[in-house]
Amino acid sequence: MRDEGKAIVPGNVVRLDEFVQRVTAPNPGVMTGPGTNAYIVGTDALALIDPGPVSAPHLAAMLDIVDKRLKWILCTHTHLDHSPGVGPLKAATGAQVLGFGRVPEDGRQDTSFRPDRALADGDVVDCGAFRLRAVHTPGHASNHLCYLFEKTGILFSGDHVMQGSTVVISPPDGDMVVYLKSLERLFALELAAFAPGHGHVIDKPHDEVRKLIAHRMKREKKVIEAFGKKNPATLDELLPLVYEDVPPRIHPVARRSLHAHVLKLREEGRAVEEGNHWRLR
Ligand SMILES: [Zn+2]
Repeated sequence: MRDEGKAIVPGNVVRLDEFVQRVTAPNPGVMTGPGTNAYIVGTDALALIDPGPVSAPHLAAMLDIVDKRLKWILCTHTHLDHSPGVGPLKAATGAQVLGFGRVPEDGRQDTSFRPDRALADGDVVDCGAFRLRAVHTPGHASNHLCYLFEKTGILFSGDHVMQGSTVVISPPDGDMVVYLKSLERLFALELAAFAPGHGHVIDKPHDEVRKLIAHRMKREKKVIEAFGKKNPATLDELLPLVYEDVPPRIHPVARRSLHAHVLKLREEGRAVEEGNHWRLR
């Protein structure tokens, strides 16, 4: 799979290989990078992964590519930048909607999502000329599925692995312990590349996973060092110590991942919560 080196522009259709095209929604931002990627998979009957937010130009761009050939709409998870576009795309094409059967209740989800077929880990979507295998990868979202294109080893990684920025882990639905386990699961898969929900294609996928795990452990080390300066401490006191390398405009989002880090320490018996303070043991 070859990605062009160019910046991702919403609405531009990029052919990544014989089977996969990408078009990006016009929703760039701090959390979404250049925007949410929709992947169109297949050569005859087509599947589309992550229709993104509701957007008339994005819907038109997707319909332009799939014409009348769209048979399956798959979602990686139900965050608002990934699945709300299902409704209008299904209305326009009649394609079958597939994804995890349960939407978490944390106020950050597209609660309208109702798949025609609920998928669980290991389930295979048989698309005739190709197959997509669901890989349950909770952590960023408890209902997160990656999809493995078995023919070429491309993993459509949604927000489990994204390019260009660190995945936010927002408790309570986001869970750092579970996220790290879901990253480690990827070593058991034979992979050629990640096609992420945000950003460019990532080659050498297992190297990338090693880097991501190392990055999280480095951040955890910074959390422990921050406790060395103040213990007990509130999340707001820890935040500038742990994320001094991150611009302050990102801090409200980083605070959620910080929360996920201290919850991990608590689960491991290394930290306790006392009112709004956290204490490292
Ligand atoms: Zn996303």
